[in-house]
Amino acid sequence: MTPSWDKLYIAGEWVAPEDGAVIESIDPATGRPWARVAIGGACDIDKAVTAASEAFAGPWRHIPAWERAQLIRRFAELYREKAPRLAELETRDCGRAIREARMDVGAHAQWYHWFASLADKSEGRTLPLDEGVHAFTTKVPVGVVGAITPWNVPLLTACWKIGTALAAGCTVILKPSELTAVTSLELARIADEAGFPPGVVNVVPGAGPAAGARMVEHPGIAKISFTGSGATARRMLRDGADTLKRFTFELGGKAAHILFADCDLDAAINAATSSAWAHCGQACALGSRVLVQRPIYAQVVEAFRARQQRVRVGMPLDEATHMGPQAHEAQLAKTLSYVEIGKQDGAELVAGGERLGGALSDGYFVAPTIFAEVRNDMRIAREEIFGPVVSIIPFDEEEEAIAIANDSEFGLTAGLWTRDLGRGLRVSQRIEAGMVWVNSYRYLRWSTPYGGFKASGWGRENGSDALDAYQEIRTTVMSATGHFADAYG
Ligand code: NAD
Repeated sequence: MTPSWDKLYIAGEWVAPEDGAVIESIDPATGRPWARVAIGGACDIDKAVTAASEAFAGPWRHIPAWERAQLIRRFAELYREKAPRLAELETRDCGRAIREARMDVGAHAQWYHWFASLADKSEGRTLPLDEGVHAFTTKVPVGVVGAITPWNVPLLTACWKIGTALAAGCTVILKPSELTAVTSLELARIADEAGFPPGVVNVVPGAGPAAGARMVEHPGIAKISFTGSGATARRMLRDGADTLKRFTFELGGKAAHILFADCDLDAAINAATSSAWAHCGQACALGSRVLVQRPIYAQVVEAFRARQQRVRVGMPLDEATHMGPQAHEAQLAKTLSYVEIGKQDGAELVAGGERLGGALSDGYFVAPTIFAEVRNDMRIAREEIFGPVVSIIPFDEEEEAIAIANDSEFGLTAGLWTRDLGRGLRVSQRIEAGMVWVNSYRYLRWSTPYGGFKASGWGRENGSDALDAYQEIRTTVMSATGHFADAYG
């Protein structure tokens, strides 16, 4: 029997979609339905907003911060227990290789613990004023938060949003992409077991133009925390304008991963190849542009080619598999279309580029793909492909590498490899990206603020200031004298 997640989680209850539907979720490894999933519509979002608003005004607002922290910790521990199952479900739904999914999902509990640790440390400041007048600031949760997440890493993106919102004292409605919603509904089960008051956490999967758009325009939602594409973010700004709600945006990337000739080449190749093809290229932080200094260029292209041969593309639940399929059919088509664009624009296809057949022919599998002699003005170097396609771009001088890295509308992440510490510091400080790794790549923790420059986003998630985006600052000024001069005397 097809496993079923056919109810929405609203106000602490499992309810059937009122104006939504139940759809089949496709296993990208087989191209066949594997689960049934509830999809909410505008009416369901309205119900969730009512529930979240009542919970915000009611119990959640009055629970002491340390108790809120304790509830998040309890949730984190339950999440830790269930992480192996969550990883398996994410693998089924998104096609992510189980070895990768386990590593990712296995870390989320620690993330929730980090947010719990911030929940009761929301401190204000005292401000210098005149004698007899005292001023201080307090932080106040913004209200109901709409968390809208993409199909590629639903649990990680939900974790960053839900953890922060709850720690800040907000209530939350999570709307995952309808393409990969199973694990978000499973997360709702954990929230239910953790014992949050009804309405504090609500989960309503749904289509963007229906459920998502309703959240953006709903006056009862104070803030949208969004991870997804720039096109959707721009649309949200227009749709949300009338309500003047707050937005945090985590958007796309086209990271430059720079290999200088003096680097530790073995380590750099390990980092550059794994961060080109991880999750079948479907992660915003990946190094999809590899910039290589001329003296080592041929050697790096060759090393990529050799490594490509070793990537085991296969069924994602197989422990031996390195790389699973693309998460959905449209993404597969998009990736293959960029392979054609790369060839037409004159880049050299070194390896890959094809959909895989044989035992994998029903799924959305594509070979890890390498383009060499790429110029930064080619579309494969400028646009986000979101597939396992790496563009290797040559450069001569340090200045040129910086110019190429920054010549992008995006500015999410970047990396550079060099044994020259001076250069490491110098170049890292001139790269226009929210996260720059020197002699490392994709090293990411709860304590490291994450987000983009330029078209890669607004605001930061994680880090010790993460809660600020979910809170308002109230400044209180108190006079000890009670004296106020007559302005008209
Ligand atoms: P998307 O923008 O198409 O969809 C993201 C979410 O927005 C989905 O839940 C979707 O249903 C919803 N949505 C779509 N239209 C909407 C609308 N009009 N109103 C409200 N909600 C709407 O993005 P995607 O294809 O799901 O995800 C891929 C994108 O996400 C890539 O650009 C990737 O770089 C980005 N991403 C960024 C990060 C990061 O941390 N910066 C992490 C993961 C993914």
